[in-house]
Amino acid sequence: IPVDPFDLVIFGGTGDLARRKILPGLFRRFCAGQMPDNAHVIGAARTEISEAAYRDMIRDAILEFGGVEKTDEAQLSAFLQNLSYVAIDARGETGWRDLKALMRRKVVRAFYFSVAPSLFGDLAERLNNHGLTDHNSRIVVEKPFGRDLETAQKLNGDLAAFFEESQIYRIDHYLGKETVQNLMAVRFGNMLFEPLWNSQFVDHIQITVAETVGVGGRGEYYDKSGAMRDMVQNHLMQLLCLIAMEPPARFDPDAVRDEKLKVIRALEPVEPHHIVRGQYGADVDDPDEHPDYRTAVDNPKSKTESFIAMKTHIANWRWAATPFYLRTGKRLCARSSEISIVFKDTPHSIFGEEAGRHRNVLSIRLQPNEGIKLGVTIKEPGPGGMRLIDVPLDMTFADALGPEGADNVDAYERLIMDVIRGNQTLFMRGDEVEAAWAWTDPIIEGWTNSNDVPKPYDSHSAGPDASAQLMRRDGREWREVT
Ligand code: NAD
Repeated sequence: IPVDPFDLVIFGGTGDLARRKILPGLFRRFCAGQMPDNAHVIGAARTEISEAAYRDMIRDAILEFGGVEKTDEAQLSAFLQNLSYVAIDARGETGWRDLKALMRRKVVRAFYFSVAPSLFGDLAERLNNHGLTDHNSRIVVEKPFGRDLETAQKLNGDLAAFFEESQIYRIDHYLGKETVQNLMAVRFGNMLFEPLWNSQFVDHIQITVAETVGVGGRGEYYDKSGAMRDMVQNHLMQLLCLIAMEPPARFDPDAVRDEKLKVIRALEPVEPHHIVRGQYGADVDDPDEHPDYRTAVDNPKSKTESFIAMKTHIANWRWAATPFYLRTGKRLCARSSEISIVFKDTPHSIFGEEAGRHRNVLSIRLQPNEGIKLGVTIKEPGPGGMRLIDVPLDMTFADALGPEGADNVDAYERLIMDVIRGNQTLFMRGDEVEAAWAWTDPIIEGWTNSNDVPKPYDSHSAGPDASAQLMRRDGREWREVT
């Protein structure tokens, strides 16, 4: 279903994110017929380049990152026809009038701030001063949304000076993944799961976001951030909220976000001995190309973590007795994002321990191979007597729904279409972001004020040994990273 006509301005339109994700995503929506023919996309950035040169740049980007085997030239030309460019310095006053002249009345106006957060306030102020927005306009802001509570409050304040909360779309692209929405459908669209979704039946929950890449060219930024700020405070906490929240009364933005906020506020402070931090070592096969973390960030004394594993609790009626284990890191053995709900043992095995015993695990895989699997215990086929095996009830979309059911929509394209539709359900509200920082700040401060240094771990491993020990102390194991 096509969305309403819109004008979308991408500040930072020549940047990496715009070229790799935003514009190729828009092109795919265009090809899918979801973008109205007269939708207008305007790139804006500091660089003085002509519109023709900008269109060439984006043509190349779509060919490189479009994710389709063969790009339809006619479609690409039609898409580029509606793409403009304006040179604007977020901190200057030139270019704004040209931008205004390009924008149409009576269509949805959206402004994507794909620039450093230090420019968010400047952009908001100038959009307002130059009369480019109305009450129906939307702004989209990228991560990182602050580096602690104080900076997040400042950013929220800078935006709130010119925009209502209902106009601000804070992107966390994890929320745009198909499986994340499917997780809510599975939880709240079935009678089966929700009665078991609590401490009485769930032994523990694991959330793993593993990357195989190192810091790459982002070393300088990453070393000031670390896994806690870069991944846990936003992506992992958002996933945790969706798993742990109470059923919202309606699937509407504030009902969902109210419930997520309650989860964050119920998180207990984390004990220092429930956290393991790590730094990756050099890739033994290719140490020059893939050096150790400290070399990669050019900071031989860096105390920043490229890996974190932690145990936390949600102090509420539903979850008080269920630990949540979170783990994320770079240069691990596989790229994988997975949430696992590990159910308790049956109270008694009528088949005897020798038959084997398996716990039900509901695993929700975000990438790669998005899908949901439920491990179910059945009898091993054949004449061998009553032996129990664990088989997955596989809800992987491509298998269950055929090739048409496979999800080919990237998180960014889904979220941009939601912005145009005015649906904030999958975007973070300002108070959520602040509450998340309020929880992570004391943990990070604790490290700053201590001599604690991250433990080294081998490239292509599952992280430092201490991470496995964190689990073993509790008689549990991490799920394999595959
Ligand atoms: P980038 O450095 O590649 O691009 C920055 C863009 O901002 C360029 O178009 C540049 O011309 C423009 N710009 C810089 N200063 C400007 C100014 N004063 N006025 C107007 N335009 C200006 O950065 P990026 O990787 O595209 O990231 C953009 C934002 O998105 C950042 O906040 C980043 O943290 C965030 N982000 C990026 C990624 C990613 O994969 N690249 C992922 C998540 C979040």
